[in-house]
Amino acid sequence: MYKYKKVRRISSNLIEDANRRYIVSLDNHVELMEALAAFCKDLTVYCGQVRGIGAISEATFRMYDPATKQYVDKTFSEQMEITNLTGNVSQKDKLPFLHVHATCSREDYSCVGGHLLSARVNGACELLVDEFGDTFAGREFDEETGLYLYKF
Ligand code: FE
Repeated sequence: MYKYKKVRRISSNLIEDANRRYIVSLDNHVELMEALAAFCKDLTVYCGQVRGIGAISEATFRMYDPATKQYVDKTFSEQMEITNLTGNVSQKDKLPFLHVHATCSREDYSCVGGHLLSARVNGACELLVDEFGDTFAGREFDEETGLYLYKF
């Protein structure tokens, strides 16, 4: 589903074993969020950040309306470049919980983007995952917003 390599040193200020950085290459045709979740679970990444670029054939974004607390999903089924993917990893129900946003460019160079639900890799997907191994970041349902917010 993916290949990865651990970056040997992030900076001289960080404790190498507690804070880990990985270069991750997702396999072609996998579903991005599923593969990233599998990576985080396999490598026990429960607190971290993710960034990346890649090429995909389909993406589904989710828009949340805070007024109605309803989700509206929209799928774009076309070849696109992930011009930027940014997200974080926390822990919910003892599993890695991903919160990822992405901007994707289309054939005409216009962009679509938002909160990423799923994407199908078609070409390559190259990610950098930073784990903050000694930090706990959970998730808790928040009545006011209707979202699972950070619980520290
Ligand atoms: Fe979001």
